[in-house]
Amino acid sequence: MEVRNFVDGALETTAEVLDNVAPGTGEVFGTLPRSGQAEVDRAMAAAKRAFPSWAATPAAERAACLDRLADAVRDHAAMLAEAEARDNGKPISLAAHVDIPRAEKNLRFYATGIQHYASQSHAMEGEAINYTLRKPLGVVACISPWNLPLYLFTWKVAPALAAGNCVVAKPSELTPVTAYLLSTWIKEAGFPNGVFNVLHGLGPEVGEAMVTHPDIAAVSFTGGTVTGARIAGHVAPKFKKMSLELGGKNPALIFADADFDEALRTTLRSSFANQGQICLCGSRILIERPIYEKFRDALVAKASKMVASDPLDPSSKMGAVVSEAHMNKILSYIELAREEGGRVLCGGERVHPEGVENGYYIAPTVIEGLGPECRTNQEEIFGPVVTLQPFDTEEQALALANDTAYGLAATLWTSDLKRAHRVAAAIDSGIVWVNTWLLRDLRTPFGGVKASGVGREGGFEALEFFTEPQNICIKL
Ligand code: NAD
Repeated sequence: MEVRNFVDGALETTAEVLDNVAPGTGEVFGTLPRSGQAEVDRAMAAAKRAFPSWAATPAAERAACLDRLADAVRDHAAMLAEAEARDNGKPISLAAHVDIPRAEKNLRFYATGIQHYASQSHAMEGEAINYTLRKPLGVVACISPWNLPLYLFTWKVAPALAAGNCVVAKPSELTPVTAYLLSTWIKEAGFPNGVFNVLHGLGPEVGEAMVTHPDIAAVSFTGGTVTGARIAGHVAPKFKKMSLELGGKNPALIFADADFDEALRTTLRSSFANQGQICLCGSRILIERPIYEKFRDALVAKASKMVASDPLDPSSKMGAVVSEAHMNKILSYIELAREEGGRVLCGGERVHPEGVENGYYIAPTVIEGLGPECRTNQEEIFGPVVTLQPFDTEEQALALANDTAYGLAATLWTSDLKRAHRVAAAIDSGIVWVNTWLLRDLRTPFGGVKASGVGREGGFEALEFFTEPQNICIKL
């Protein structure tokens, strides 16, 4: 498949292209443009030209464009799921049940959201009335990662466009295909030329040119913490708005009074779904000592039965990790865990499923015996690798949970209602799930604290980010 840029209403490519590799087979299956400053300059100029008219378009008309784009996603759902599985390595059933329906939902959510987004007014008894206008920012940059490609791409562009901004967006160079397919339907969805541009290429090249462009009004970024810091270094001194959704090292706290079977089933999912490559996956499993051994043995027994297979096989539950480089990074962390004194209880190695022997597969890996301070328990691995640590008291569990630089999401398992409220509030993270995982209401604020990011997405939070409030005070 030849992925192309979409700039000012036209599909185009660049003189130099990059190979696109399918992680499930390790084979090149297409190309993508290697965009740079020139493409960014043209996309920015087109977006800037389109902005006044798009900002003045009634919200209901902007919403109708988003809805028609959502229709295109729905109508091509099977094709998109297959594309996502091939491009990312995730099981096609996951793409078909989670990624693609959620992409459609994101577009529809903000198509309706913008029509319920009301401005505030503050009356000063008999003296004056204040009202707040919420104005679109201008041209915004949306940069998304490879783990949930179309899901996270639409999660950014939908509120940006709904709020009346023009967008220059870039998906990850590792997984460009579904954003490209989406871009082929932008015109027929009714977006005027220049409103929604999609560029492809390497982060340090096209991504960097986007975030350093003088005409960019805001940057919405989801990706690694190191990249986020680099982007903040460019954007903050210019006082541009930025929303950064970054990495995590999420704890799962399992108390002895938890529903054991439910906690076990869900922890297996929160550990290994999407090969552990969801920013919300729990990678540090903290277990109250009375059930430590029972839980460990049951988790290891279940994880050992998870067999990686061709992501395009409809029965696959465990696919490939996204790239050879990422696979090697994960394997090097497993090596590090061994050097740090960890015991690998299952997995711990690359596997070569029949028929797709050259793909990038890692067996689900569970490690115990490591203290909280070691690198394995401090650094984001972002693969099918979890560590287990026992705890004796609630205080100790909380200390372990909070003992990292990150603070994205946490999971808490207990049947004690008071403890659930007490511990949830004491965890330093943007999101806490109690007796569940990844149950998402799109109206809730989504994001992390500490090194997991700045700002929140979701609901009206995203519309606030993509608009500038202006207070107007009228003396009566
Ligand atoms: P990454 O930081 O390498 O890349 C993310 C995006 O940024 C890509 O599109 C990339 O091309 C681009 N990019 C890279 N360098 C850039 C630069 N200098 N300037 C501008 N853009 C640049 O991250 P990744 O490996 O694609 O994604 C994995 C990371 O994303 C993990 O750390 C994961 O935790 C995080 N993540 C966070 C969330 C969240 O909501 N907090 C969600 C998903 C993933």
